[in-house]
Amino acid sequence: MRLSKACWQTYKEIPKEAEIPSHQLLMKAGLLHKSGSGIYQYLPFALRVIQKIENIIREELNKIYSQEITMSMVTPGELWKESGRWDLMENLMVQFEDRGGKDLCLSPTNEESVTDIFRKIVKSYKQLPVSLYQINTKFRDEIRPRFGLMRGREFIMKDAYTFHLNKECMDKGYEEMYQAYSNIFKRMGLDFAIVEADAGNMGSTDSKTHEFQVIAETGEDLIVYSESSDYAANIEKAETIRKNLSFSKDSEVTEIDTPKMKSIADVCNHLKVDQYQSLKSLVYTSITDAKESHHLVLLLGDDELNEVKLKNYLNATYLVMTKDETIKDLGLIKGFIGPHNCSENLNIVYDQAIDLDSSYIIGANKVDKHLKGFVPSRNCKDSVNQTDLRNSKPGDYTQCGEHEVKIKKGIEVGHIFQLGDKYTKAMSAQVLDNNGKKVNPLMGCYGIGVTRTMAAAIEQNHDEQGMIWPMAIAPYQVYFSLIGKSEEIKKLASDIYDSLVSDKIEVLFDDRGLGPGAMFKDSDLLGLPIRITLGERDYKESNLLEIKLRKCGTVHKVSREGLNSKVKELINNEL
Ligand code: ATP
Ligand code: MG
Repeated sequence: MRLSKACWQTYKEIPKEAEIPSHQLLMKAGLLHKSGSGIYQYLPFALRVIQKIENIIREELNKIYSQEITMSMVTPGELWKESGRWDLMENLMVQFEDRGGKDLCLSPTNEESVTDIFRKIVKSYKQLPVSLYQINTKFRDEIRPRFGLMRGREFIMKDAYTFHLNKECMDKGYEEMYQAYSNIFKRMGLDFAIVEADAGNMGSTDSKTHEFQVIAETGEDLIVYSESSDYAANIEKAETIRKNLSFSKDSEVTEIDTPKMKSIADVCNHLKVDQYQSLKSLVYTSITDAKESHHLVLLLGDDELNEVKLKNYLNATYLVMTKDETIKDLGLIKGFIGPHNCSENLNIVYDQAIDLDSSYIIGANKVDKHLKGFVPSRNCKDSVNQTDLRNSKPGDYTQCGEHEVKIKKGIEVGHIFQLGDKYTKAMSAQVLDNNGKKVNPLMGCYGIGVTRTMAAAIEQNHDEQGMIWPMAIAPYQVYFSLIGKSEEIKKLASDIYDSLVSDKIEVLFDDRGLGPGAMFKDSDLLGLPIRITLGERDYKESNLLEIKLRKCGTVHKVSREGLNSKVKELINNEL
């Protein structure tokens, strides 16, 4: 492409709302045009990146015999009513009616559509497994669209779906997809982690699910991992243990004065004990099957609750912190809440890290009072519910107690998931098995956020000057800049451009006649992996062109004859 013919504009200013590098740089470098909250137009250079990402995905999925289809973006409400998700996804989905009053929606995902296709075509186990994928636009009416392409409302997703006769086949299909995903992100040149993910209430308890996370400081997900083993899990899923805590064993419960000491830190400082020797009491309200219930959640004083774990444990549709009036009605005093003698209407849940036979400091449910010596197994009236609810922390250990864990940030770019028979059952998709019996096949679903991956690649690869594209997904491989005005040098540059193109090298030729300052600024901002400079003065003196690598700044001087082979070598080194 010759820049003199391109529709491209870079900007000095970055939009105020752009908080993270990928959003800032995509806007500044003129790759995106915003048309509404969380809605973007992909301009020519962005589209080239998207197409490259899509093609890598296609190649790897085609290799495992997944077939590409395109499902409609607008789907009938009926399908979603069959699966039971019409009401459940009301907030995330844009729902509307056609002129005849029939419900429609913009698809946020396509399990229903694909199951509808499947049940019409596949009738026998002999036709299994089936693997279909598509790459298309999704719309999710996210509560807080933000960070540009990272959390858009309209975005491009690759979604694949597989159908299997039994668990063994589903595991095999899952394993193949896991491998294909690893190849996809490796080929894109990204540093990523594969982590165990939270299955939420989507699958059964033995459903496998993993996320593919691009490692980046600006990631919204926390990855708990150990360097001495292959353990890696999303913080919503991670179950790690604390070691070397020593608890006291007081023989009886005594009341202590804690005037105006509402925080755990205040109380523990006052009593000169570690915070984990107290219990943190949190009150939550959950709604399950339209029924509201209240829960007192207890954690070691210095631990944090993971709300996703609590929501899953309670099998709740919604979970919120309990309102102040309700807390009062339950007979609890904010700042002094504790599990001793509290209302029957509260369900008490203890986190797994709490040693139920040790004694703790707790709120006394009285103003300015705490209790000392509370032992859950001794002082609780009923049997004690205990489960893992805390956030893992650096310095915890894996369940076996051998591997210390650390935490890093990641961006979820892919998610693979065993759905089991959730949709095939709800939508009566059945096949005959080898005994002639009707069975509901088991499903897997597998997503990649194509546009989010583009943003994640920038989060991971950029500097002060701009983006630094990995070779495999760069809009072009080479930025060819010409410095010089004579007809002779222009002719030479044009010949060089043609010869690079005929050698199948992807070149963006800056023939706009800008000065070197402006040209290099644009070149660094756009971040193509290789820059070739033909400088009239240098070339006359030395007969050499300059190759500069965006990532490491390495410079090579090459002759015109050696140029193409050197560039090809540099490209191949990175692919
Ligand atoms: P998140 O937890 O980030 O909201 P999700 O778990 O809801 O994502 P999935 O339903 O697993 O997302 O979708 C598959 C993939 O689509 C995700 O792994 C992510 O890469 C991408 N994706 C999801 N939501 C968005 C969005 N709002 N904008 C861009 N990409 C998205
Ligand atoms: Mg996900």
